[in-house]
Amino acid sequence: MSHRRILSSLAGLAAAALAVPAFAAAPAQSAPAPATSSPSSIAAYTGSPQDAAATKAFYEAVMKSAKAKQAKAGNKAAAVTVTYAVDAPTFASLISSSTSIWNSSVSNVTLVEGSNYDFYYTEGNDPRGSYASTDGHGSGYIFLDYAQAQQYDPLRITAHETGHVLGLPDHYSGPCSELMSGGGPGPSCTNPNPDANERSRVNSLWANGFAKR
Ligand SMILES: [Zn+2]
Repeated sequence: MSHRRILSSLAGLAAAALAVPAFAAAPAQSAPAPATSSPSSIAAYTGSPQDAAATKAFYEAVMKSAKAKQAKAGNKAAAVTVTYAVDAPTFASLISSSTSIWNSSVSNVTLVEGSNYDFYYTEGNDPRGSYASTDGHGSGYIFLDYAQAQQYDPLRITAHETGHVLGLPDHYSGPCSELMSGGGPGPSCTNPNPDANERSRVNSLWANGFAKR
């Protein structure tokens, strides 16, 4: 077990984002370097309207990068595989279920567990709750918070944070039928599935081999 410093490019983000844990347990030593071409973002499960600007900036950065990569990729059309590692034993079965949900929901990107990973899941206690530290291109990590998983549906949390790694921003004001509304609809919302619009957005983002290096 190694400890790997997570270096994030936080350009354009609020100072609150600097509260990322400086060290996070990672299950292997082969994590790819974070992308430097676009800002990383912390995207939490619950939030306030004040987060809207950061959310918008995150999605605009993802879209800009996706368009650039699509232009470079030309006609390449194969689905992209994004590999993840699990350093979150409490959530292992939920992560597996989240993967199944996403893999059956979208066609242009496939999640696979493996040792040579693009992103990883970790778990613990954090007053901010669960969040994703990601560039939205399949890199980074997902932190799953014990206390929040007691209050909110843990599968919805897991699938929601995975949505960030796939490029989706938060939309806390959305209904429970949206996955990216996160904690917005309240703890009674247990829907773990992205809606048609969210599926479409992910497929668009990963068209033509979005992220794979
Ligand atoms: Zn979120």
